[in-house]
Amino acid sequence: MSAQIIDGKLLASNVRAEWKRRAVKLTEQGLRPGLAVIMVGDNPASEIYVRNKVRACSEIGIHSEVHHFFGNTHQNEVLDCIRILNHNQHVHGILVQLPLPLHYANNQVITSIAIEKDVDGFHLYNVGALVTGNTNFAPCTPYGVMTMLEQHHIAIEGKHAVIVGRSNIVGKPMAMMLLEHGATVTICSSKTRDLSYFTRSADILVVATGQPQMVTAEMVKPGAVVIDVGINRLPDGQLCGDVEFGSVREVAGYITPVPGGVGPMTITMLLCNTILAAERCQQNASI
Ligand code: NDP
Repeated sequence: MSAQIIDGKLLASNVRAEWKRRAVKLTEQGLRPGLAVIMVGDNPASEIYVRNKVRACSEIGIHSEVHHFFGNTHQNEVLDCIRILNHNQHVHGILVQLPLPLHYANNQVITSIAIEKDVDGFHLYNVGALVTGNTNFAPCTPYGVMTMLEQHHIAIEGKHAVIVGRSNIVGKPMAMMLLEHGATVTICSSKTRDLSYFTRSADILVVATGQPQMVTAEMVKPGAVVIDVGINRLPDGQLCGDVEFGSVREVAGYITPVPGGVGPMTITMLLCNTILAAERCQQNASI
């Protein structure tokens, strides 16, 4: 039997409609949510991601501004910009589009963002908050995955969740969130021996490697929930995930497509976090 497709595009539009009402309410009360995006250099993929974020902001009624620096800009200039944005009352969320140029110290830049405006959830304080079960801002991609599981009433507690990929922005926070919800979690990486042994035991399999179609049907337990985070471009220009969709959908119970799966949810959760930051700002002002 073919897997049920988790339609990220549809879910994203439902979630956005709900949050748009909150953004409109804030705006009517005189506080329009605002997001500032910092971009350094001219990475073509980053330019597309930033453009998509700006468009999504405008569709939901969030003010957005892009601070685009040349690749050879001194890091201090970017830090100065972030410091000013930290005090800008029209900006409730700040995100730094990664990757930064190689000569930048990522952590120094990210930790210069005010904790209450770190809508990507990458500041070391917010990472610590997540790990200790005190989430301040959930990182957008794993937050999007959790929302997909929740909206499809997929039970997490007691399940074996296997995550392939251990990056700071996807794999590790994903593991923490699933752990927090009572899953038994295994994290795999390129160093894992006999990857299939682990993936075949997964009730929930999250794949975030950047390796096109590396997870095949033989690696998946029948009925498993398969979440494909990967976004890859094949030589013919087509987009694909890290999972071989055609064969895996015949084995899995649920599967996310690429495109139209996790991608739209990631941007959506960024919008939610920005509106949340603005709501908190309003609450703090009224205390
Ligand atoms: P990274 O390159 O930072 O991390 C990739 C991880 O995958 C690493 O931990 C690496 O292991 C592991 N890995 C690579 N090859 C293998 C392999 N053959 N077997 C097992 N593990 C492997 O990538 P990101 O986490 O940033 O992104 C992963 C993918 O998700 C990319 O395709 C990216 O484009 C996509 N992405 C999609 C988003 C969305 O919104 N849909 C958002 C963010 C990312 P090791 O640590 O040992 O090197």
